[in-house]
Amino acid sequence: MTEKKQDPEENEDVHLYQRLADRSAEILQEGRKTIDEALKKAGDEIASGGDFTREQAEKIGNYIRRDLSEVGRKLKQSRDTVITAAEPHRLAAGVQSGLAKLLNTAADVLSDIADRSEKVLEFHTGEVTSPGTLTCKACEKEMRLKSTVRIPPCPSCHKTTFRKSY
Ligand SMILES: [Zn+2]
Repeated sequence: MTEKKQDPEENEDVHLYQRLADRSAEILQEGRKTIDEALKKAGDEIASGGDFTREQAEKIGNYIRRDLSEVGRKLKQSRDTVITAAEPHRLAAGVQSGLAKLLNTAADVLSDIADRSEKVLEFHTGEVTSPGTLTCKACEKEMRLKSTVRIPPCPSCHKTTFRKSY
């Protein structure tokens, strides 16, 4: 896909996604917190810094949670009974983002977050997501995302609903 110039608001959300993912990973490394708790704490910290509002942090936190759920679900489907740290690490090599660090850290809680999202999640134009492949639900056109981006409309049919794989 061709690299398009992003407007400032798009860059801001993508930047916040990466900051939030990085900080959440650090918080998870510090102690026994769940992903939800770490995302909330990271969001509170970043919001209190004044660069972003609490609402922005919460919205972006939900995008990160969704990306993690998809990865967790994928791991479960691989039929391994125990999710070891090695597997998210291998998977993270293809993810290449702030999310990668979060995945390494969060190995033991990924299966838990996956349990809470058994249905296949939808991704929509305008939302921010980590690298991976989005498939248009209308025409099956695939978009390969190489970095964390705001999701564009389908380049083929211009519809706005996708499913994601890694
Ligand atoms: Zn399409």
